[in-house]
Amino acid sequence: MTRTVTLADGTTLPAVGQGTWYIGDDPRTRAEEIATLREGVELGLRLVDTAEMYGDGRSENLVGEAIAPVRDEVYLVDKVLPMNASRRGTIEACERSLRELGTDRIDLYLLHWMGSHPLSETVDAFEELIERDLIGAWGVSNVDADELGAFPSAPLVNQVLYNPSRRGLEFDLLPMQRSARPTIATMAYSPIEQGRLLGDPVLQSVAERHDASIAQVLVAWAIHEGDVIAIPKASTREHVRENARALTLELTATDLAEIDAAFPAPSHAVPLEIL
Ligand code: NAP
Repeated sequence: MTRTVTLADGTTLPAVGQGTWYIGDDPRTRAEEIATLREGVELGLRLVDTAEMYGDGRSENLVGEAIAPVRDEVYLVDKVLPMNASRRGTIEACERSLRELGTDRIDLYLLHWMGSHPLSETVDAFEELIERDLIGAWGVSNVDADELGAFPSAPLVNQVLYNPSRRGLEFDLLPMQRSARPTIATMAYSPIEQGRLLGDPVLQSVAERHDASIAQVLVAWAIHEGDVIAIPKASTREHVRENARALTLELTATDLAEIDAAFPAPSHAVPLEIL
């Protein structure tokens, strides 16, 4: 069964989307990256995540070109840099991103991480963008448990680093987001730990039992609780096909226990890690 996650505003999304950090940086790989994103959307990975930070707009530019023929199918996530997140700066950053993307609407606009502009200004700007229909909703990224309360209203999503080697948020942030009303959805970034877990022997043995790859196990692990969306980044069609198959990979209790033993869940509060 393909996994989906329903956000507090009623939007239902596939539990696996597509990240795009470092995509669009090299003109020689542009065609393959565009083909990869399009194939990902066709395979159901219709949430695409980018940021004004990624290649100073190069990722947004490539994403815009890739999704243009299928724009209506895509749930587009973009992020404003904290240094731009003043009342006026947020609006200007969004308008710049829309131009780079070649579209008239971002579905979910995130504050990339906490900065020094007052959060009330950023949220006021987000609300204005919603009113003008330039964005559909707003959320945050890299916000820890003790910082969530600083927002004047609840973000729809918090995009955070989450994979078996980065489980600190399971202690406090994840339960807090689950019990918040409205719920704050968790979007797991770097679910493949940027490749650093691909040689792990425990993950390898789990993968072999499913005739799957370690990357697929990692993506399936990130989404296995049913309310987390993972956004692995793939630059090749082979990788995106693999990642799409993670949507239907069911990890067993034995798999999860072996992963827990190798990558224990936190027993105390730890600061949220950031990449
Ligand atoms: P990631 O998705 O954990 O890992 C990407 C790496 O995994 C790339 O080297 C990719 O290779 C490789 N890979 C992908 N699929 C694979 C497969 N099936 N088999 C083997 N290798 C595979 O790391 P990430 O890019 O840092 O995180 C994902 C996305 O999250 C980002 O692209 C970005 O959109 C978002 N993000 C957000 C923040 C934030 O602060 N909000 C921070 C980091 C990331 P190829 O490229 O060669 O396919």
